[in-house]
Amino acid sequence: MTAKPITIVGGGLAGLALGIGLRQRGVPVTVWEAGHYPRHRVCGEFISGRGQETLGWLGLRELLEHAGAVNAGTAAFFSTTQSTPPRSLPARAICLSRFTMDHALAVEFRRLGGELLEDHHWREGDFGEGMIRATGRRAQMRENISRWFGLKVHARNVPLTADLEMHVSPRGYVGLCRVDGGAVNVCGLFRRRAGEDHTPQNWRAGLRGQTGSPLNQRLAAAEFDESSFCAVAGISLRPQRATARAECCIGDAITMIPPVTGNGMSMAFESAGMAVEPLAAWSSGEISWTETRQTLAHRCDGAFARRLAWAKWLQRMMLAPSLQNVLVRFVARNEWFWRTAFERTR
Ligand SMILES: Cc1cc2nc3c(=O)[nH]c(=O)nc-3n(C[C@H](O)[C@H](O)[C@H](O)COP(=O)(O)OP(=O)(O)OC[C@H]3O[C@@H](n4cnc5c(N)ncnc54)[C@H](O)[C@@H]3O)c2cc1C
Repeated sequence: MTAKPITIVGGGLAGLALGIGLRQRGVPVTVWEAGHYPRHRVCGEFISGRGQETLGWLGLRELLEHAGAVNAGTAAFFSTTQSTPPRSLPARAICLSRFTMDHALAVEFRRLGGELLEDHHWREGDFGEGMIRATGRRAQMRENISRWFGLKVHARNVPLTADLEMHVSPRGYVGLCRVDGGAVNVCGLFRRRAGEDHTPQNWRAGLRGQTGSPLNQRLAAAEFDESSFCAVAGISLRPQRATARAECCIGDAITMIPPVTGNGMSMAFESAGMAVEPLAAWSSGEISWTETRQTLAHRCDGAFARRLAWAKWLQRMMLAPSLQNVLVRFVARNEWFWRTAFERTR
């Protein structure tokens, strides 16, 4: 029987990783991508967790290393007044800009014979048989009274005390890590209250942190790469289940884990990895589409439900202004808390 083709809508990390896995098994695949490559994306660019195993399984570890991925072994935490010394990460992480990574995966997908349609926005509502939704986070314009937005920019001349620095403030958090090409990625998630000034200048000031804070000092002499600046708004961090979705979804299209965990990209790779075998089986006529969709959704919920619950709790704690200094002081004295949080959100 001829292999049935698969269409993936969304050529981000989840869509491209799945496309690569399917092409390695000879499945005909088309990826629709609304944007183009390379391009900057709002992302902390810090990859940690089990998704690295999926990258190994798909033979993509070497590809990313070759593209310039930087190993990360330490992390340090800061509030506006407190700091911790560098702590060893419980497991290795890698840092690579989305500009480089998405492009490298797109090239690999094409090399394997995949059809990649750039600047092609899928507008049909219907995701029928053989169609995968990998369209990333679902925008939410109203969530209670606060709204989340994310910002990122690459900078040079930023001295770091650890491979990953996480700075929390009452407005949100900013992560700093060194990526390929020697730049430091400066990426933050912020809460905007209704009626607040929402100009890009104000957003940039938010990334620099409060005057006198460790973040502000770190970025005092920073040279920003203006072309890398990007922003996203309407971020929803309410956990969702794959089994509640009517479509076959992977990555952020299922749900978005709070970025503070640095695990969203891992979930994108993991869900793509979990989708490869069921989709290859559907393509060769071994299982029905309903079975394919349900198998994938159950696998994703089984793998992600616990970490999503922990991440929701962690994000709440880290953003509670009254707890931030206490937490950072606690982590400075005791490794148990953050090692537990790290492990449970992966
Ligand atoms: C502020 C912030 C910081 C973060 N930091 C980290 C971090 O440090 N570590 C980490 O692991 N994760 C982090 N994340 C999360 C991470 O970026 C996502 O989890 C990851 O990008 C999800 O990959 P994805 O492929 O599902 O979605 P995306 O990478 O968003 O890809 C979706 C793609 O679908 C395309 N698309 C959408 N709709 C259509 C359509 N109709 N037709 C065609 N194409 C379409 C889009 O153009 C996009 O390219 C962060 C997120 C934010 C917001």
